[in-house]
Amino acid sequence: MKLYDTQQRAVVPLDARPGATMRMYVCGITPSDATHVGHAATFLAFDVLQRRLQDLGCRTRCVRNITDVDDDLLARARAVGVHYLDLAAGSLAAFDADMDALGLLRADAEPRATSAIPDIRRLIGRLLSSGHAYRSSGGVYFDTSAAQSFGELSRLDGVQMVELARRRGGRPDDPNKRRPLDFVLWQPSSVGEPEWSASWGLGRPGWHVECSALALTHLGETIDVHGGGSDLVFPHHECSRAQSEAATGRRFVRHWMHTSMVRSGGAKMSKSAGNLVVVSDLRARWAPMAVRLALLGEHYRADWEWSEASVVTATRRLERWRAAGRGDGALAQVRERLDDDLDTPGALDAIDAAAARRVPVSDAAALLGVTL
Ligand code: ZN
Repeated sequence: MKLYDTQQRAVVPLDARPGATMRMYVCGITPSDATHVGHAATFLAFDVLQRRLQDLGCRTRCVRNITDVDDDLLARARAVGVHYLDLAAGSLAAFDADMDALGLLRADAEPRATSAIPDIRRLIGRLLSSGHAYRSSGGVYFDTSAAQSFGELSRLDGVQMVELARRRGGRPDDPNKRRPLDFVLWQPSSVGEPEWSASWGLGRPGWHVECSALALTHLGETIDVHGGGSDLVFPHHECSRAQSEAATGRRFVRHWMHTSMVRSGGAKMSKSAGNLVVVSDLRARWAPMAVRLALLGEHYRADWEWSEASVVTATRRLERWRAAGRGDGALAQVRERLDDDLDTPGALDAIDAAAARRVPVSDAAALLGVTL
């Protein structure tokens, strides 16, 4: 099959031979809020990829981390007056219920940052001893001058990277850094925040190093497909790549996959914009399979605007597909569409065409994770 690779900026063949194990790592959630449509669309794209890889005869091993210690989570726990791990537990239960309802495959491992502190410390220790990281004022920072290919994933120049880092919490003006793009691996905790001991000082890990440590522990030094939302390309994945390759001397990721941003009311869906459409609200009013089908109607790489009308369309679609009966009509066409950079809108059209001729389409729908 062919799939767009963010680093190469092109649709390229994905090496997925029958019998091979495809190791996938999808950046998961910070469990501080309800799951919105943008999250669901991202995890759904990886879910469909995983289903097609299994259909091709591959084994898949998919890891999705949980960032359960993080600035946003700690701030929200403080604001609502609960322990941060209690807030995380409640949010995770709701997330699991949403994903199960939409028919997503469960991850093979869902490691939590707070359970991976020894792995994270080990990775930071490796980077310090190899000269890729330095200690400063109780923290540890990655030295980007020691990573020659820094910027090759996002293809941004230095000025653009500093600007994006500033907007996305990278603190380029932190006086403890040698260079603005150096990033934190370990930081002293503020008063009231959780902290762990390390030979370089009490504190907590940075976000980027969490994913590298978990990927190394659960999947090994090179991952087949790694990704998440496109807002993670920089700085998160650029930094994950730099530190992983610095530690192992090997290529970290064979194929980078990123999903589009979803808009609502004309703006990118985000908590700060106040325009979140949350999955629990949708599935209270619509059949979860119709919500899944509505999301599959958009290509994973094209930015799109959420509209509830898409669930109405999807509900009618489901009825037509169910009326066509059980069988393997359109299966070959759906496979062909998925192998062309996960063209789910094209796959839905192929099933529509078969169902219109009263050809049974339940197997083709099942390949998309849609149960009729
Ligand atoms: Zn990550």
